[in-house]
Amino acid sequence: MAAKILDGKRLSATIEQELQERVRVLKSAGHTPILATILVGSDPASATYVRMKGNACQRVGMESLRIELPSETTTETLLSNIAGLNANPDVHGILLQHPVPEQIDERSCFDAIDLGKDVDGVTCLGFGKMSMGESVYGSATPAGIMTLLDRYEIPLKGKHAVVVGRSPILGKPMAMMLLNAHATVTICHSRTQGLEQIVAQGDIVVGAVGRPELIKGAWIKPGAVVIDAGYHPGGIGDVELSVAKNHCSAYTPVPGGVGPMTIATLIEQCVSAAEAYYGMGN
Ligand code: NAP
Repeated sequence: MAAKILDGKRLSATIEQELQERVRVLKSAGHTPILATILVGSDPASATYVRMKGNACQRVGMESLRIELPSETTTETLLSNIAGLNANPDVHGILLQHPVPEQIDERSCFDAIDLGKDVDGVTCLGFGKMSMGESVYGSATPAGIMTLLDRYEIPLKGKHAVVVGRSPILGKPMAMMLLNAHATVTICHSRTQGLEQIVAQGDIVVGAVGRPELIKGAWIKPGAVVIDAGYHPGGIGDVELSVAKNHCSAYTPVPGGVGPMTIATLIEQCVSAAEAYYGMGN
């Protein structure tokens, strides 16, 4: 049977439709949700991601407040911008686009974001609370993947999930979310020995390595579910999907899988933050 495509593009469009209605309700009460985006430096890929997030805000009727800082920005300057946004009652969510230039202490800047405005789920406190199963905004990419798995009714309980990558914004929170969903989780990284044999055991395999097609299609167990977070020039991911899709049961396409879900999740969490601020919503 042909593998099912976990269509993040289509699902994110559905989520945006749902959000339009929630934003309409907020606006009719006089409240416009605002996502502040901070871009430091001139990396073209980062600028594109920030623009895409701003466009998504527009599509659902929200506003975005764009802050652009030069490459030579110091940690202190960035911290003071974040403090200003934390204190601004009109801003409901803050996105600090990763990565920032290397002279900046990214971790302390992430952690300076007010937990209630951490709609991209990047703070240590948010990670800790999420890991403990508390209600908090999850890191946007893995949270988007969880939504995709949920809406496509992919069973996770008792399944062996292999996450390849352990970054703070993707691999680590992904592993904790899958664990919270009762999967048995193995996390692999650059020092992992026998990667091929471990991946081959996965009922669910998440590629989050940032290396084009590092995870070979032949490693994937027949019937496994493949989530590919990677995106590289030429539209290839971290998994060799051209081979994997012939024997896996479901997979996220590249592009059109994980990427759109990340943006939809960020926007959804910002709408939720605005609802929470005004005591509206669920
Ligand atoms: P990252 O911070 O560079 O982390 C990469 C991870 O992969 C690290 O944990 C690293 O291990 C591991 N790794 C590197 N080489 C490896 C190897 N040969 N074998 C096993 N593990 C290896 O990257 P990231 O930010 O997590 O992003 C990962 C991928 O997801 C990238 O392709 C990125 O473009 C994509 N991404 C997509 C979205 C989206 O919205 N679509 C968002 C974020 C990221 P060590 O920890 O040992 O170094």
